[in-house]
Amino acid sequence: MTLKKCVICDGINFSKKVSVRDPLKKSTKYSLMLCLSCKTVSTTPIPKDLDQYYSVNYDSYQKKTSLFSKIYSFAQNLNNYRKTKILKQINAKSILDYGCGSGSFVRYTSKRGYETNGYEPINDTNDTNISDSMETFKNKNFDCITMWHVLEHTKDPVSILKELKRKLQKGGSLLLALPNYDSYDNIYYKKEWAGYDVPRHLYHFNKKSVMFLSEKTGFQLIGMKPLYLDAFYVSILSEKKRKSFLPEIKGLWVGLVSNILSFFSGNPSSIIYILKK
Ligand SMILES: [Zn+2]
Repeated sequence: MTLKKCVICDGINFSKKVSVRDPLKKSTKYSLMLCLSCKTVSTTPIPKDLDQYYSVNYDSYQKKTSLFSKIYSFAQNLNNYRKTKILKQINAKSILDYGCGSGSFVRYTSKRGYETNGYEPINDTNDTNISDSMETFKNKNFDCITMWHVLEHTKDPVSILKELKRKLQKGGSLLLALPNYDSYDNIYYKKEWAGYDVPRHLYHFNKKSVMFLSEKTGFQLIGMKPLYLDAFYVSILSEKKRKSFLPEIKGLWVGLVSNILSFFSGNPSSIIYILKK
């Protein structure tokens, strides 16, 4: 199946960015197609049975025990701290974490006095602030909606952003964290870049494509913040994908280089975009 139309801008002209192998069925390849008008990259084809790619082994859902996992939760806390700082800056009190995974951000912010709810359709948690249906929030509006590495998993980002805009108070904010395909770690790892994470990531963004998406859905893009830790995390995972010797050490090094270069290029591994209604 070839890609006929870009789901973000309806554009019909593409160039192939890279081919990436299926992590489960190694003989299957995905083509990542760059839309020449809006710069969004689409994963093609999108598998029909996407659910099987979200098994209990999926990283974001796991309970961590090993050393790498301990470092992962330490980093997650640091990231939560950084994200919460933005909530303070935009003066948000009521928050919806859309696609909240294991619920780490919901718990972190709730403990610190925020009124946080989470929506998570796939991962089951016992947390009463987390629901698997958006119906639960039908009579509720929020100061801020967060999507931490979530939009790239959705089939129709434009509709989702329009729907979420209606759930925001006037002047409310949407925070989007997304991997950046213009980062040095992407350029270094190419088809082995863990930020592609096919086929779970259906779309791949850079700054230009998010600017387009934000305008198309009627938001105002008012800020961008780098997520420095993601460069290390993505690079270590990419080294593991390559089956490198000492993947942690090599990944930390490439992550460091990526972060340093991002000061000059303005293109870190992941970016938090601040969109205002
Ligand atoms: Zn497009």
